[in-house]
Amino acid sequence: MKYSFYNSIIIVNEKKYLYNSFSGALIGLDDKTSEKLRNADTNEKFDESCFLDDELYTLKKCSVIVPDELNEIEKYLEIKKAKIENDKIFRLTIAPTLNCNFRCHYCFEEHQNKKMSAEVQDTLCKWIKQELTDNNYSALSVTWFGGEPLMCTDTIIDLSARFLRICDQLRINYFSSIITNGYLLNSIDAKDFIAKCKINTMQITIDGTEEIHNKRRILYKSNIGTYNEIIKGINSISSCDCKIKIRINLDKANNHIIKETCNQLKENIVDKHNVYPYLAKLFCMDDLNAGLEDKLLHNEEYIQAAIGFSNFAKEAGFNVSEKVFIPKLKIWFCPAPYGHSKVIDPDGYIYYCWNDIGIKEYSAGSIFMEENEEFKKQAALWKKYAYEFHEDCIKCKSFVTCAGGCAREKVRADKNYSCDDYSICSDMLVKNYIASIEP
Ligand code: SF4
Ligand code: SF4
Repeated sequence: MKYSFYNSIIIVNEKKYLYNSFSGALIGLDDKTSEKLRNADTNEKFDESCFLDDELYTLKKCSVIVPDELNEIEKYLEIKKAKIENDKIFRLTIAPTLNCNFRCHYCFEEHQNKKMSAEVQDTLCKWIKQELTDNNYSALSVTWFGGEPLMCTDTIIDLSARFLRICDQLRINYFSSIITNGYLLNSIDAKDFIAKCKINTMQITIDGTEEIHNKRRILYKSNIGTYNEIIKGINSISSCDCKIKIRINLDKANNHIIKETCNQLKENIVDKHNVYPYLAKLFCMDDLNAGLEDKLLHNEEYIQAAIGFSNFAKEAGFNVSEKVFIPKLKIWFCPAPYGHSKVIDPDGYIYYCWNDIGIKEYSAGSIFMEENEEFKKQAALWKKYAYEFHEDCIKCKSFVTCAGGCAREKVRADKNYSCDDYSICSDMLVKNYIASIEP
């Protein structure tokens, strides 16, 4: 047997723990065991004789020690491939418009004033049915995206009814979520919309306290802040059977006010039982929203803030995001390079990643057209990075819980490596988890 590459010794309050990122096992260590394991880490050959039988049993079960002949990275890649090949959920992100009623300075989209036509909607339904049948999918999961999707509620209601009928005919499950700025929730019958479209999850963005949010998320062609209207919208639907995720975009400008942000949400949101506020790190990509670099947080700063925020949110009576729990084995960073998820723009063009939406030269297909050379070229770029990883990722203990990071930078900017050290963050998360369960 040998000591697993994925073991880390984590120290909290002078007490030692062993965390194995492959199995997710976390074991408290006494000084004697810790010393024996330290020797195991440094010795080429693992000496089983210094462990008791029940200790060996636990170490094997938790994959802390593994067979000599086992290539752990190959095992991970095999698990990843098998799970991805067996994944039978067709994930579609659909933008009925790229237009938006907000103009946030960090937005990566170009807002074109165009809505999905009846012809695109009809073809989309036929295309979806064909894809579901040809690939033998067992579920359809639709995320409504934009622009601002609530600017097209009639289209969403209509298409949802048609998708539900298709899933009924094929006897498969249907899930749906929406990513919205939430401003128009008060101008529609939001409860009826959620019920008709079977929306399971709604993601709404708030950018900090009322003061900061109103400077950053303003209505198009005005300086009008949107905080109160969004909060009113959230309160109007918080009793629905729909998870409301409040995404708080975080950068250097609002990193210092996470407690105030949480307190304001606590005061303003009446029914919290379905509400999940969480922090999301603002990012920029060279070809989309470059120029924000000096405003962005490093992963480490972000994780520190996310841990603090989750504690405030818990105390305030909210649900907290699973992102701040102990890292688990991940088969993908996101499904984009694997072809199980597609993004559709209002003209029916198909993309792999939602950050590409609306940029026609990045499209990898169309619901109207046969594959052509350009589409094939784009699809090939994504497929290349599905199973190809930078050597530093392969050597990283967090690879199995990170899965190698976002593929878009590799596809679009040929930056084969862009980690700002998620592995440190992984240790921070484990330490936080230990601190939360230890007396
Ligand atoms: S992106 Fe970073 S954390 Fe993820 S596997 Fe690569 S080196 Fe590790
Ligand atoms: S490829 Fe990167 S940018 Fe695109 S959806 Fe995945 S994680 Fe997001």
